[in-house]
Amino acid sequence: MRAVTVIPGVPGSLRLLDDYPEPASEEGPILVEAVSVGVCGTDIEIIEGQYGEAPPGADHLVLGHESLGRVLEDSTGTLQPGDLVAGIVRHPDPLPCPNCAVDEWDMCRNGMFTEHGIKALPGFARQRWRLQPRFAVGLAPALAEVGMLLEPTSVVAKAWDHIDRIGRRTEWQPRHALITGAGPIGLLAALLASQRGLSVHVLDLATEGPKPALAGALGATYHSGPLHQLDLEPDVIIECTGAPAVVLEAMCKVGPTGIVCLAGVSSGGRIIDFDAGALNRTLVLENNVVFGSVNANRRHWDFAAEALSKADPDWLGSLITRRVPLSEYAVAYSPGPQDIKVVLDFTA
Ligand code: BGC
Repeated sequence: MRAVTVIPGVPGSLRLLDDYPEPASEEGPILVEAVSVGVCGTDIEIIEGQYGEAPPGADHLVLGHESLGRVLEDSTGTLQPGDLVAGIVRHPDPLPCPNCAVDEWDMCRNGMFTEHGIKALPGFARQRWRLQPRFAVGLAPALAEVGMLLEPTSVVAKAWDHIDRIGRRTEWQPRHALITGAGPIGLLAALLASQRGLSVHVLDLATEGPKPALAGALGATYHSGPLHQLDLEPDVIIECTGAPAVVLEAMCKVGPTGIVCLAGVSSGGRIIDFDAGALNRTLVLENNVVFGSVNANRRHWDFAAEALSKADPDWLGSLITRRVPLSEYAVAYSPGPQDIKVVLDFTA
């Protein structure tokens, strides 16, 4: 069958193989036919040879961690043939660490977790894949065009879950949320903020293209000026750019008892002249919290599926700026300046 693969660590090794083996029955009793996979920055990093790990004993890694498929067969009866399904990205480490032992694999402590399409597990950019029921998340039929957004939504569902847990250290009545970065993660974080009834602000460099209208359709206020000039004291900031200057400004900008969740990943290597003492002073004197958040566990995936089923399908559809047929796979991995989410279509 066909599969999009790389040799991890080897830039330029992206290939569409025709003879990739069918999924082994050990992968799980749920056999799935791929519908689409979403492309994200992590895929690009893997293609550039900066990230990613092949399964033990293999040279190739199948890409794809933002999955959507249709069940072909499920001998356990958990799902029915024809059901829409997405596969959970991360699997717990084998030891397991204290967090993986209680299925909080998103908080793995020893780094021995595996991730489909990223770290030591084949991804979902192949025509057929298999899942264990505990890693299979069913989706409402109405999400047939947009269900590959479940994975990035699970990531922001985890971020909001942890913001809530941290917030509960005190009387927590957040009103204003600021999301920095209006890419897929930022816009989905804004969607969840609006579903929570918060007043939502979205900040991004773009003044043209679809981002301002997509934020506006959520009832959010869109800003494109410098963060420190915003006339706003956010209770929550979800930082989704990973741009070092924005990360620092977000930490300085959050209001008293505020929470900054860092969800964007910087590449590192840029040195910034910055008054760390002033930041320390603000964080301490205002009881602020800054924390990092990655990945998601089953609870977050289920919450994300519910959030997507409550969202406007047309709005979700407008996040997908390009659908690329599998035969033209390579262009899916070169996002253009106006792209939000590019999707590889296995049905075309
Ligand atoms: C994925 C996460 C994953 C992370 C690190 C992200 O692109 O959405 O699920 O944990 O990369 O590998």
